[in-house]
Amino acid sequence: MRGRELRGELDAFLAESEQDLVAFRRDLHMHPELAFAEYRTTQRIAERLTAAGLSPRVLPKGTGLICDVGSGDGPTVALRADIDALPLQDEKDVPYRSTVPGVCHACGHDVHTTVLLGTSLFLAQQAAAGLLPGRVRLIFQPAEEAPGGALEVMAHGGISGVDRIFGLHCDPRVDVGQLGLRVGPITSACDRLTVRVSGPGGHTARPHLTADLVFALAKILTELPAALSRRIDPRSSLSLVWGRVEAGSAANAIPDDGVAEGTVRCLDEDAWHAAPDLIKSLLESVASAYGIEATMDYTRGVPPVVNDEVSVEMLGEAAERVLGAGAVVPTQQSLGGEDFAWYLESVPGAFARLGTRSPDGVTYDIHQGTFDVDEQAIAMGVRVMAATAFTALWDVGPLDSTVTSALA
Ligand SMILES: [Zn+2]
Ligand SMILES: [Zn+2]
Repeated sequence: MRGRELRGELDAFLAESEQDLVAFRRDLHMHPELAFAEYRTTQRIAERLTAAGLSPRVLPKGTGLICDVGSGDGPTVALRADIDALPLQDEKDVPYRSTVPGVCHACGHDVHTTVLLGTSLFLAQQAAAGLLPGRVRLIFQPAEEAPGGALEVMAHGGISGVDRIFGLHCDPRVDVGQLGLRVGPITSACDRLTVRVSGPGGHTARPHLTADLVFALAKILTELPAALSRRIDPRSSLSLVWGRVEAGSAANAIPDDGVAEGTVRCLDEDAWHAAPDLIKSLLESVASAYGIEATMDYTRGVPPVVNDEVSVEMLGEAAERVLGAGAVVPTQQSLGGEDFAWYLESVPGAFARLGTRSPDGVTYDIHQGTFDVDEQAIAMGVRVMAATAFTALWDVGPLDSTVTSALA
């Protein structure tokens, strides 16, 4: 089964299922659950997969699940959705408004979950008819908004044996029916840095007899970002920006400790890996020049999502096949973080932006209490995910280069 047939099969499936999927999304939207507390959501997904004859495996913490469709020695392609909501108030006036105070699906993960459920049900039908040329691993991942969800999936074998992985995210700046793609990094890294300095302290009349801690801290605050910009490739856009600094309590006393906190953002994976060691050595060299002690806590966020070129070609080919010519649009690298990046450190794959804006409608933003989608995006997402799985399983090799050359 190729091209035109797949499109026809999807049309028939969605003619029957689209309303049901919209209702499923609205139910999730009314009952949002925070990271690692997605028990009801997980249960709802598991019930539907089981009813379709599949065998979902709920992760040990009871939230999130993994499920394989199809079998055989062929390739395994993973499709991932995140299922958690955000700790903020739903401000929409819609019948499917959140019923949980202070919790809202404001990042569209209810849509991602529904898209993957629809894709799962379609693939289950295809597998039952003997039409699925390999295995598809469905990953309903918990806790994307809090650290740990992707790592939890990986710790329990979620991507073992997987040859390629795909995911998508709602993009309220792209019209419904379009898919935003980009080769290379599509999201960014964001880490936290805390620097603590200490010295003997003393009178401001005699800085030469002690260590001038405030002066040294000021040097650290300016020298670290400046030196980083000379030691890391400027194209990586690594930036250290301080958000808090504190030292001292009196005008005429040199304090014995101080602290500074900031974020390290970065567009490039190599620079992200190199950043902690480099920052530590720069910090030690500046501190020692002024005779103070300095330590740092470097808290890793996520690496950038770096899209593999062949996987982007597959997504682009699939989207053009089922959404129509012109459906693929180039997209920018965002400064946001996304833990899909952890999978791509081990397995090639790609992450796409699913258009959710009604043409000529309101442009919403994610992580806002007003965020909502054009629900036609659900069917579009099912088409793209299912076609991408088939395309990757067919492994058709290099595709129409006009699609990807516009995205690089
Ligand atoms: Zn989010
Ligand atoms: Zn999100």
